[in-house]
Amino acid sequence: MIKIVVDRGRHAPQAFCDHCGKRIEKAKDGNYEWKGQISSGDASDLYLIHKACSYAFKQVTGDSLQTAELTLLPIRLGNNLEIDWDEANEMSEL
Ligand SMILES: [Zn+2]
Repeated sequence: MIKIVVDRGRHAPQAFCDHCGKRIEKAKDGNYEWKGQISSGDASDLYLIHKACSYAFKQVTGDSLQTAELTLLPIRLGNNLEIDWDEANEMSEL
């Protein structure tokens, strides 16, 4: 899940593992996962999982989950939100 954490006086979104609850500090250490058995037009919850927790999470949920690199999530979500990346970069400097 994503939470807002106060870090050095700023409110910062950070990723936390939906299995162990600890922060995912580097995208390369995580995946995003979702239920693969959904029909076109339906939606699945999305889980943020440490790669090291992925097997255990699947054992607990018993679901057939699809997996993708967490590194890809911001770009894919941003593209689905039709983000103007240049404008977003300018706004983040404020
Ligand atoms: Zn974890």
